[in-house]
Amino acid sequence: MCYDAVPCRVFSCGHEKPQGQRSQVDCGSNRCRYSKNHPTGQCNNCVNTCTQWYVARVRL
Ligand SMILES: [Zn+2]
Ligand SMILES: [Zn+2]
Repeated sequence: MCYDAVPCRVFSCGHEKPQGQRSQVDCGSNRCRYSKNHPTGQCNNCVNTCTQWYVARVRL
């Protein structure tokens, strides 16, 4: 599924701080509601056939 990749800097104490530009990563699936390949407005049974959730933040 699609997600936002957020670069984080990890400090030696264990804290991490988001740094830099987040970039959206497209999974490319036509069975994912958030993908560019998903048929917008033409998906009749979207709730049952397609991924409906989106990962907002992924540590790099
Ligand atoms: Zn996706
Ligand atoms: Zn769909």
